[in-house]
Amino acid sequence: MSDGAGATHSIYGFERWGRGLLEVLPNGDVGLLDPDRPDAPAVSLPGILHDLQERGIHTPILLRVAGYLRQNIARINEGFARAIAASGYTGAYRGVFPIKVNQQAQVVDRIVEFGRPYSFGLEAGSKPELVIAMAHRLPKDALIICNGVKDDEFIRLAILSRKIGFNTVIVLESPRELETVIRVTRELGEEPLLGVRVKLTNRIGGNWAESSGDRSTFGMNTDQLVSIMDRLREAGLLHCLKLQHSHLGSQIPDVNDVRRAVSEACRYFTELTAEGAALTHLDLGGGLGFDYTGEKKASENSVNYSVEEYCANVVETVAYALNEAGVAHPTLVTESGRAVVASTSMLIFDVLEATFFDADDAPRPQPEDHHYVSDLAAVQEYLSADRLQECINDSTFYRNEMRALFRRGTVGLREMARAERIYLHLMAGIKTLAAGTQNGREIEEHLENLADIYHCNFSLFQSLPDVWAIDQLHPVAPLQRLDEAPERRAILSDITCDSDGKIDRFILADGISPSLPLHRLRDDATYYLGVFFVGAYQETLGDLHNLFGDTNVVTIELGEDGEFDLLHELEGDTIAEVMAYVEYDPRDCVEAFRRMLDEATSAKTLNAAGRKALMNAYRDSITGYTYYE
Ligand SMILES: *Cc1c(COP(=O)(O)O)cnc(C)c1O
Repeated sequence: MSDGAGATHSIYGFERWGRGLLEVLPNGDVGLLDPDRPDAPAVSLPGILHDLQERGIHTPILLRVAGYLRQNIARINEGFARAIAASGYTGAYRGVFPIKVNQQAQVVDRIVEFGRPYSFGLEAGSKPELVIAMAHRLPKDALIICNGVKDDEFIRLAILSRKIGFNTVIVLESPRELETVIRVTRELGEEPLLGVRVKLTNRIGGNWAESSGDRSTFGMNTDQLVSIMDRLREAGLLHCLKLQHSHLGSQIPDVNDVRRAVSEACRYFTELTAEGAALTHLDLGGGLGFDYTGEKKASENSVNYSVEEYCANVVETVAYALNEAGVAHPTLVTESGRAVVASTSMLIFDVLEATFFDADDAPRPQPEDHHYVSDLAAVQEYLSADRLQECINDSTFYRNEMRALFRRGTVGLREMARAERIYLHLMAGIKTLAAGTQNGREIEEHLENLADIYHCNFSLFQSLPDVWAIDQLHPVAPLQRLDEAPERRAILSDITCDSDGKIDRFILADGISPSLPLHRLRDDATYYLGVFFVGAYQETLGDLHNLFGDTNVVTIELGEDGEFDLLHELEGDTIAEVMAYVEYDPRDCVEAFRRMLDEATSAKTLNAAGRKALMNAYRDSITGYTYYE
């Protein structure tokens, strides 16, 4: 690859956030690397899309790479195994996957399969998730951890599941929940495996700081714990309490926060043990972060530690604290969701068209035009790098005066259009001059407003809800032409009719940017963009805004020689399916439409051919993909 090409694609930071998963191929395509075979050639992502296209699978596509999931599960489990061996820790590690982070059957099934060698279990935060967990044959010493608010039915199912060998732990969330457990236990005459959720008072940094500390909505304080212990003893069930659950948080940016919180959890473990609980498991919940930006620092969407460091820190902290207290080392449990699935899927869509806020050329002012038009055109004569701000001020002034005249009826459509076009041409010149220089804040803000809008075939609300709701950042980049310098800068807009449906913060090699460098669209080739690391939380939090449904989902396995296998394909929602979600019966709609056509035919306002064409168009739409085809 030439130096020029190297410099071109490094704008996006593939080398930083793509680490070992993605790289740019010499032909400018994004390639997928196989983490299990670092020496195998990368598989071209546009090549995969071309193949899928030939099989009739179109963008938007959610693409899952099975190997990435296998790798993440191995990394966490082996990370703990190594830390345990290195520190002389005498307990084991038994991770569980929290189903809420990605409930899709294809994902959970594979997690169970890839986790089998490690006795990896599942975490259920609701009845439906427990039902899903129990549909899997888990290894005999894998755990099912039940969190969340639980009713009779939930507790009954959890207790009875032990009869067929599930190690289902009911984590008590409140003293009231314990009363239900005691009642159901007596009714069934079967004993539960119990856990107790302890609220830590340490505040954890990051986006989810709210979920930690005193005001966390989950877990019990010292006062409630004392009453739980007393009540368990009184009911003769204290020996059933095996697990302490202390959820550390989510996407914890700083590894020292992990250490502090784990130390505090160990204090409770020590005290509860001293109170007579025969605890055998310490569950530290979620929080293992994922480095979306690749910056390796304790900041938004990044973390200052690796999986291996997290494991080592947890194990060493627990070993130290419990050695001090003279308490035996428990089995360590974590409920990492994000770190297991975030990297395993990417959203891929095509760009439909672009709106520009500059123009390559400009018309001449006409003799009959208002003098503002020629004033505007005259800015071109003094346009230069050292007078940028002045040129922006002047051109904006004349353009706005023209708009005012247009609104009052003094200026006509064609005259106004000339002025707008001259303005846009000036903006093109300003962009070019500004590109190579250090600019003041006001100029930068003005330039941001000149970024192109690339209209893309996806719904932010369906596929990237956290980008909309909590400003989650994901790397976004073109999948092809990375050997060409991108000439444009753009924000992305989705196909919902909602002005919130846009992406305007991007991870680039040199930091977070309000626009994304992109290439000019070509008529003869589809321009694909990828949004990476969308495997955690995005799929089920998504909604049906404008009734855009689930996208097509494809799972692949990377092969030896730049090949890939299609493991599974799931067609996205049809229009009929999303209609049914909002309680329309598609058959009724077809019927209602048919009656309208019949009436029009009877009234002779529609002939037979017209009737047939309309009926087919309506029916084809109803069975089609909700996205732009
Ligand atoms: C959400 C959640 C998790 C998952 O957290 P991650 O940060 O995604 O690893 C684990 N445990 C509980 C109780 C949760 O609510």
